[in-house]
Amino acid sequence: MHTVDALLKKYWGYTAFLPHQKEIITSVLEGRDTVAIMATGGGKSLCYQLPALYLGGLTVVISPLISLMKDQVDDLNLRGIPAAAYNSSLEYCERKEIEAQLRDNTLRLLFISPEKCMQPNFLKFLGRFQVHLIAVDEAHCISEWGHNFRPEYRQLSRLKKHFPNVPVVALTATAVPEVRKDIHRQLGLSDAREFVGSFNRTNLRYSVVQKTNPMALLLTYIGRHSNESGIVYCFSKKETEDLSRELQKYGYKALAYHAGLAKTIREKVQDDFIHDNVQIVCATVAFGMGIDKPDVRYVIHYDLPKTIESYYQETGRAGRDGQSSECVLFYSRGEYGKVRSMLEHDRSNEGHIRIAVRKLQEMLDYCETTGCRRKYLLNYFGEEYGGENCGLCDNCDHPGETVDGTECARTIIACVEQLPTNFGIELIADVLRGSKNEKIRDNRFDLLPAYNTGAEQSKKQYRTWINDLVRQGYLARTGERYPVIALTEKSAEVMRGEVRVMLPAPEAGAKKRARPQ
Ligand code: ADP
Ligand code: ZN
Repeated sequence: MHTVDALLKKYWGYTAFLPHQKEIITSVLEGRDTVAIMATGGGKSLCYQLPALYLGGLTVVISPLISLMKDQVDDLNLRGIPAAAYNSSLEYCERKEIEAQLRDNTLRLLFISPEKCMQPNFLKFLGRFQVHLIAVDEAHCISEWGHNFRPEYRQLSRLKKHFPNVPVVALTATAVPEVRKDIHRQLGLSDAREFVGSFNRTNLRYSVVQKTNPMALLLTYIGRHSNESGIVYCFSKKETEDLSRELQKYGYKALAYHAGLAKTIREKVQDDFIHDNVQIVCATVAFGMGIDKPDVRYVIHYDLPKTIESYYQETGRAGRDGQSSECVLFYSRGEYGKVRSMLEHDRSNEGHIRIAVRKLQEMLDYCETTGCRRKYLLNYFGEEYGGENCGLCDNCDHPGETVDGTECARTIIACVEQLPTNFGIELIADVLRGSKNEKIRDNRFDLLPAYNTGAEQSKKQYRTWINDLVRQGYLARTGERYPVIALTEKSAEVMRGEVRVMLPAPEAGAKKRARPQ
């Protein structure tokens, strides 16, 4: 019998495992339920493909998209590994062929959609064979916290009832704690081992730029990468078409990609991109799953993404070859407002709205943070980031000037303390600035000691400072439906005068503008 190292060499031609692969494979081979969380490109597929070979018998792989299954099956067959995808588009004779292979125990991997897998007839059918392992790919689809919730994944909660003794390996590139919890719980994993790889993509440079005159901005960035491949993510189908047409006028080979295009056209665009016949794809989020082009040199988000997860995944398509690549996000606060009100009116389910609004808020925080972007992203995924500054993001390259903001922090924290419950940034700023609006008057917040104690600063300035205090842990953001600001343990340290707080320097001219009376 081959060792796992020998199998790796024999079937894949690799001489070493990528980080965590060996530990994950070992855990699976010990028969443990296992959760593998690794960034896109981290080599997750091998973590069930190799055990499938090692264990013999059958490994069932649950996967959300038929196109993904097909790519994997082709890849495995080329390596001489017997694998097949079982779905409704099969011809009768193809199905018979797979069934024959199953009976002869010659098939190692069977790819299947969650809904097909959970059909009673199919479960009974599967029960006749030696299922040694079940792999749940893209396991975040089971969680409403994931950016890609698929209701059909919920059926998998019955999986363990049907196969109580078969180990399950769940794989995902989403490391958000809520999603991780959901995966364990929904799949009914018992005493599962969890492996989390690093999400740090050290060759990617992150930056956020103000979206004023976006077309000119786009041309500037693309101009820096002439003859290199890039993706421009847009919000709407129409925008992908308008932008690609505009770029063509400037002599760029650009094409649009979105779900509204015919399948043949979409495949052609993908193919042209992969083979460098076209340099720029202006795309909606539909573009990406299954695109494995190594030398994408930049990813530009022309519009605000809705979640950090999708942003991270989309930027992750840059620089797979390890060469330095650039991720730029065009940001305007007005757009945030629009997307937010769209989310609030779009979905029916209150719970979904709450989650979506909170995720958008986190996206906004990313845009407005004055700290290291990489650190923000990694912390979001629950990863400690050692270095204070990455040196490879706009904020690290050009740190804004900071000043001793202890007094200012005390003024803000005092206001939060005095308010009867937690409120959002807008209201806190209104109280500090001595606003006379209805909400203030109705609640008699003009009687608070904090009222009108910081009239000389603009609302925007307070937004920056409060966000920065949150980033530094002197305040916290909570709230279900609407994000509100709360005190933390560190707030008290400021009030007791135990710490010195550094804050971004006030914007020039703020004072002049803000002396109202
Ligand atoms: P993921 O599913 O995590 O996004 P994949 O399984 O598609 O990642 O693997 C990403 C790339 O890494 C693939 O091209 C794969 O062949 C390659 N790869 C996987 N394992 C190894 C290894 N041990 N050594 C070298 N390359 C590997
Ligand atoms: Zn940085």
